[in-house]
Amino acid sequence: MKRENAIHRLTGTACWDVVVIGGGATGLGVALDAVTRGFSTLLLEAKDFAKGTSSRSTKLVHGGVRYLAQGDVALVREALRERGRLAKNAPHLFKTQAFIIPGEKWWTAPYYTFGLWLYDRLAGKLSIGHTRHLGQDEVRSRLPGVKDEKLQAGVCYYDGQFDDARLAVTLAQSIVDNGGTVLNYFPVTGLAKDTNGTICGVHGEDTLSGQRFSINARAVINATGVFANDIIAMDEPHAKPRIVPSQGIHLILARDFLPGDDALMVPKTSDGRVLFVVPWHDKLVVGTTDTLVEQAEYEPKPIEKEVQFILDTAKDYLKRAPTRADVRSVFAGLRPLAAPKDEGKSTKEVSRSHKVEVTASKLVHIFGGKWTTYRQMAQDTIDAAINADLLPASACQTVDLRLHGYMGENTYLDETALTVYGSDAEKIRALADNDKALGERIHPDLPYLYAQVEWAIEHELAHTLEDILARRLRAIFLDARAAGEAAQAVAEFMAARLNWDDKRVAKEVADFNTLVKQYIL
Ligand SMILES: Cc1cc2nc3c(=O)[nH]c(=O)nc-3n(C[C@H](O)[C@H](O)[C@H](O)COP(=O)(O)OP(=O)(O)OC[C@H]3O[C@@H](n4cnc5c(N)ncnc54)[C@H](O)[C@@H]3O)c2cc1C
Repeated sequence: MKRENAIHRLTGTACWDVVVIGGGATGLGVALDAVTRGFSTLLLEAKDFAKGTSSRSTKLVHGGVRYLAQGDVALVREALRERGRLAKNAPHLFKTQAFIIPGEKWWTAPYYTFGLWLYDRLAGKLSIGHTRHLGQDEVRSRLPGVKDEKLQAGVCYYDGQFDDARLAVTLAQSIVDNGGTVLNYFPVTGLAKDTNGTICGVHGEDTLSGQRFSINARAVINATGVFANDIIAMDEPHAKPRIVPSQGIHLILARDFLPGDDALMVPKTSDGRVLFVVPWHDKLVVGTTDTLVEQAEYEPKPIEKEVQFILDTAKDYLKRAPTRADVRSVFAGLRPLAAPKDEGKSTKEVSRSHKVEVTASKLVHIFGGKWTTYRQMAQDTIDAAINADLLPASACQTVDLRLHGYMGENTYLDETALTVYGSDAEKIRALADNDKALGERIHPDLPYLYAQVEWAIEHELAHTLEDILARRLRAIFLDARAAGEAAQAVAEFMAARLNWDDKRVAKEVADFNTLVKQYIL
């Protein structure tokens, strides 16, 4: 993956079959679907891959127990099927995680055991583990961090867990492996229409060089998540907003607040949501919330009330009550929910299923959805483009498509920082073995090596310090303070590879540290 090659292909292609706008879960999935059907495919991302919502999820590949409780069986079945497919196609990025629901009252554990038995049955052949009722002794020994009074009994069920931004990078690599072209730092600034008013391409800008391009395409796909309204406005200036952003935040805590391998799932918080406390890399992810916000932004800000809600709920369950000082990182993400027709509906009641639309001008929109269902969303999107006669018929190839780094089944062997690279891990290890400086850690409290920074610059289209410390490595999400402390040294390392002068190094570090402030409470 080299930018020069992508720009070269861009200038050498008269008309693309498919141009995808947006490089989050949705757009990357669509581009991979398109290119593997044999269509020439270009993906344009305004900032960095997964800079938007797709790096800020709860990191679950799940059917959604909550949606089952809401009776959305079709969505749960679809998501469970996709969970099983990701486990098979990218085992290096998929971890089977045991979740325990505490049974506080005598009847709650049997009630949830039945619900989760059904959840399991819906997964069919793609089930990843069987739901089991746990007695008092077992549940207390498996959740030593949870207050005993919450654990009269319990239920253990299984779901998937992943690293969202790493899956995004893996998808970008898979697109390129299959002959597609991806460009980050390349916003679409306008849509091109022919004399009939039909979309025939896009205008965009390479923000790294300042060069502007007009790009022809047979099918243009709007996969911009919470930013979709901006693209809609390029097509129909007076259209009503179709997407409402709903914010969810997460807190990161040290692993010792919930020792052991099991995750905790609180099925009903005081606001009627679920709360997860899940081991992720060497920390715990705790979340999330659901707050309607007015504006879609790239760095949504956690609201004090949300932080307090998570700390209070965690305090209710955990023996060691976490305080603000214990929070290693706090981050917010925006769900791209389809605007409810019923204005009074709360965001947690709006369906998480996706929606594909082809407009009169032949712009294809894909709205909503979840990370877990990205593959099905992509299939439905390209099918819709074919049905609208924008593309010739061609069958979807991604059901069994192995993603970049695939090494064989059940290869999620450990949780070291290199696991997520799959077959590339060996090459990164070789870099570290052959050069002592590359074998050094970037910070004593972070598990990452300079070899990974080198790899991200050379092979993963990382262009800024933030690309490295937020999405190629997950430093700011796992420990914001440590990430801030590593910034200067990592920027200097990058400077030598990318020919940055002192002014550029200072700017990268200052920009990153401004961000760090937002991730610290
Ligand atoms: C708090 C929270 C927790 C979640 N947890 C889970 C979970 O555990 N499991 C799960 O399955 N799902 C989860 N989700 C849902 C999931 O994260 C989202 O559905 C998914 O990431 C959305 O991806 P997207 O590609 O549609 O949007 P985004 O990731 O936001 O991507 C859109 C991209 O479009 C780009 N863009 C915008 N304008 C332009 C332009 N003009 N030109 C080019 N590019 C442009 C943006 O830069 C952005 O990168 C969660 C969501 C939230 C908010």
